[in-house]
Amino acid sequence: MSGPGLKGYHAVVTGGGRGIGAAAAIALAEAGAQVSVAARNETQVVEIAAAMRENGHEAFAFRCDVTDPHQVRDLALSATEAMGRIDILVNNAGTATSNPLPKITLPEWQHILSVNATGTFLCSQAVFNQMKERRWGRIVNVASIAGVEGDKYISAYTAAKHAVVGFTRAMAVEARGTGVTFNAVCPGYVDTPLTDETISRIMRQTGRSWQESLSALLEQAGQPRLIRAHEVAASILDLCTEEAGSRSGELVLLDGTETP
Ligand code: NDP
Repeated sequence: MSGPGLKGYHAVVTGGGRGIGAAAAIALAEAGAQVSVAARNETQVVEIAAAMRENGHEAFAFRCDVTDPHQVRDLALSATEAMGRIDILVNNAGTATSNPLPKITLPEWQHILSVNATGTFLCSQAVFNQMKERRWGRIVNVASIAGVEGDKYISAYTAAKHAVVGFTRAMAVEARGTGVTFNAVCPGYVDTPLTDETISRIMRQTGRSWQESLSALLEQAGQPRLIRAHEVAASILDLCTEEAGSRSGELVLLDGTETP
């Protein structure tokens, strides 16, 4: 969508400071929405919001750890106060690790579940009632291919993203008839700082070069190339439009199949 398709709508994007979240925030702003970006690191969200404002968009930045119910409640209150309401929520904040089962510590397991799954639950819960009252809302959860498939060494992340997918499906049914939709995007590996971390981990563990590690990652995933963040953002935007009102409970899979 280009132009003011979302003019008058206010979108909150968690994890909007970099990677997919920043790309989604910019895509929503370019479609006319007012955008609030939130993350733990205030510097990055402040920079993204400033860049959006420089391009003529209305944008706010908030610090929020999505695993903390108090911070999530404050985010919902502050963002609602700033723009009068929240119409769109993109639950994008997420993190990943990889480890074989015997090496996964309990804190690691809990952290992965907490950021990806509990964060999605808390943020959705914080905005759902006001969306329902206005009989309009779009909630898009950034899950992963790991939300629908399994792979070795990512059992915690896979469990967390399956939870996100399950939550999306259940809420799509629960919200039927309210005007609020719940959908998920499920990308394979995307070219973001998170994937850079994964590649660095492979390099450390195997002694391979960056290019060799990237090739091994792509081969393991069956992907010809990394997906670009703006491609994921385009799918998120598509699910946020007025025209997407009858789409709920959908999983949009992006697997980088088409080569450049
Ligand atoms: P990045 O690491 O590049 O960005 C993650 C963002 O989430 C950052 O803005 C980070 O900011 C924020 N974040 C992390 N933890 C929290 C937290 N507890 N509370 C609030 N914000 C948090 O990741 P990507 O852009 O790659 O990933 C975005 C989403 O897409 C994630 O949910 C990820 O699982 C998913 N995904 C990514 C894929 C990939 O290959 N990259 C593939 C499939 C799905 P800060 O650290 O300042 O809090």
